[in-house]
Amino acid sequence: MTKVAFIGLGVMGYPMAGHLVKAGFDVCVYNRTTAKAEQWANEFSGTFATTPKQASDNADIVFACVGNDDDVRQVSFGEDGIFAGLETGAIYVDHTTASAELARELNDFAVKQGNHFIDAPVSGGQAGAENGLLTVMCGGDETTFAKVQPVMAAYAKFSQLMGASGYGQIAKMANQICIAGVVQGLSEAFNFAQRSGLDADKLVETISKGAAGSWQMENRYKTMFAGEYDFGFAVDWMRKDLAIAFAEAQKVDAKLPMTEMVDGFYEQVQQNGGNRWDTSSLISLLKD
Ligand code: NAP
Repeated sequence: MTKVAFIGLGVMGYPMAGHLVKAGFDVCVYNRTTAKAEQWANEFSGTFATTPKQASDNADIVFACVGNDDDVRQVSFGEDGIFAGLETGAIYVDHTTASAELARELNDFAVKQGNHFIDAPVSGGQAGAENGLLTVMCGGDETTFAKVQPVMAAYAKFSQLMGASGYGQIAKMANQICIAGVVQGLSEAFNFAQRSGLDADKLVETISKGAAGSWQMENRYKTMFAGEYDFGFAVDWMRKDLAIAFAEAQKVDAKLPMTEMVDGFYEQVQQNGGNRWDTSSLISLLKD
């Protein structure tokens, strides 16, 4: 039986690790707050470790999904880190949304000590993780990707190797740039529609079938019309992702004028107390 470890049982990692058990893998988890790891082990009949190293011991594949670059470094390096536990030939897959630079750093480190690394940020949100329907954007070599793809299928409806190390993260940056623009467009359209007296359900039932349709439109219109934001993908996370994209865009001399404007709007949402609100809360700035 393939032995896997999962590091980081947040909104995303908790259900993803659960899907691995349901798919028949032998799963050991680690979470910084141990109570959550205990709760997970009870719920899914898996095991938990008290350090990333201990969870990674003897694992064929180690998955991680933590917060940002610094968090990934904390769980990866040091005497209790993932790399300290990896057996020769084992694979480390990082699902955290982080920089391409970090992905290359982890890949170099992995290769030097006889391991393999795939950067593998995900899209699909909390619902995608809970329903096992994530999309995974990967960077690394083809042989390693071919080994991890069938395992990730436990929680992913689609995964693709985008290119060499770092390209999974670069694809995720493009994804976040798309989302910023789409959500601002929806905010303006829905605010306009509401003020004009259009029926939300009829509007979305109709225009979602045409050229304006999107995941965000179908999955967020009800809450956007209702002014409910206390769920979903946090504005703090989105600003972290956009900061990573801005830094990468500078390197390739790509202009992101609209994304910069939307990032400014997200900053205003944070100032209004919306750090943990869903990204669709951009519409709150138009409602007053
Ligand atoms: P979350 O709910 O805040 O969970 C973060 C997890 O990482 C927790 O298990 C946390 O442990 C752990 N962690 C954070 N910093 C750590 C550190 N320094 N050392 C050890 N453990 C640490 O976040 P999430 O929503 O699952 O997101 C995780 C990643 O997926 C982020 O990179 C995010 O951008 C990305 N992502 C999220 C979504 C989404 O919809 N939520 C969608 C796509 C991508 P504790 O339990 O101890 O705090």
